[in-house]
Amino acid sequence: MGTGKAKHLIVISYDAFSEDNWEKAKSLPNLSRLIDNGVGTHKLKSVYPTLTYVVHTTMVTGVYPDKHGIYHNNPLQPFIPEKDQNWFWFKKDVKVPAIYDRLKEQGMKSAGILWPVTGKAAITYNIPEIRAVKNENQAIKILKNGSPLFSIGMERKFGHIRKGIQQPYLDDFTTRCAVEVIKQKKPELLFLHLIDLDDGKHGYGTDSTEIEKILIRMDNRLGDIIKAAEEAGSYKDTVFLVVGDHGQINIRYKVKLNQLLKEKGLIYEEKGEMKWRAYIQSAGGAAYLHLKEKDSEAEQLALEVINMAAAKESYGIERIYTGKELKEQHVVSSVSYMLEAKAGYCFDDSLKGSVVTDLKEQGITYATHGFSPDKPGYQCNLVISGACIKKGYPLGEVSMVDLAPTMASILGVHLDNCDGRALEEIFCS
Ligand SMILES: [Zn+2]
Repeated sequence: MGTGKAKHLIVISYDAFSEDNWEKAKSLPNLSRLIDNGVGTHKLKSVYPTLTYVVHTTMVTGVYPDKHGIYHNNPLQPFIPEKDQNWFWFKKDVKVPAIYDRLKEQGMKSAGILWPVTGKAAITYNIPEIRAVKNENQAIKILKNGSPLFSIGMERKFGHIRKGIQQPYLDDFTTRCAVEVIKQKKPELLFLHLIDLDDGKHGYGTDSTEIEKILIRMDNRLGDIIKAAEEAGSYKDTVFLVVGDHGQINIRYKVKLNQLLKEKGLIYEEKGEMKWRAYIQSAGGAAYLHLKEKDSEAEQLALEVINMAAAKESYGIERIYTGKELKEQHVVSSVSYMLEAKAGYCFDDSLKGSVVTDLKEQGITYATHGFSPDKPGYQCNLVISGACIKKGYPLGEVSMVDLAPTMASILGVHLDNCDGRALEEIFCS
């Protein structure tokens, strides 16, 4: 330590906080206070596919998914319903160091509250985002994979606020934990993940009046966090970084391409068990085409299916990415093909029902993400604010891989081999 620009850094991920919320955000008291005292942009480019676990891992490592290895929220689990699937809960799946690893080496303290992919991570005070599946117990799973004493303490004090993963209760719990950590533990780095806005967009769509209400709730939570830093006496030496991981796009049609692969015999039943030679793993607005290794026949057949589907307007395929193009997009190398959906369409793994479901016809409002970070109107918001940040510096276009090196520079730790760069131009000299 000693070369840092501030003693404390608080990173607040507003899940799904995107450019369409920027004008409203600027009108809210706490966010505008941070923007007025620092820098802000609504042109933060995310990484592909724009799924929460993929992006949050980039935020803390400074590298693209092809290097950190978290290519989806869920490892591939064909034919298992999403609610029963395991996610990438654990840090061991991340192939590169994260900023909190570097802090630990320097003897500095970090705290993580519901940050994705931090199970058993080297975080001093850690409540990882992790969910019990099947017969597991939620509280025990968190204790086993986070910091037990810290988690028990937080659960005792604030557990009553939570109602499972329901909002707004879950984010209220996270905020109360953050306030407590700021006052009692005074970590150099605190990062927390608030999910209310993402939840709201999925359920109400991106332009519902509910979204405005949620943005106000989010701002109130931010206010509680700023106030905690003031009361702890650390406000002046704290940098606040508020960031969104992706936007969302309203969806009318759900497209289930595995049904077409099944018609071609690439997905089949054998002795009562489902098998596959080619399989579509949906990532919402994008989808991976997985192929069994060295099965070139399956590859050829699957490509025929996908190309035929792409020619049909109603399947909503905007683009098929091949290996070389995916490399340029920094997508993991284990996947050879990827599909991008048109705005208004998303993909689904399911083998049930019709190939295309019209959600509007069924009276369902839905929005989702996963799309290419280049999709129009889909960039993320970023605010960085503190005494060491130049007031009003025009930040312009930045990349999600720039965040971790910037955080490292703020705290004075080394995070080498990042794909991005520290935004040195925003610091006061
Ligand atoms: Zn997200």
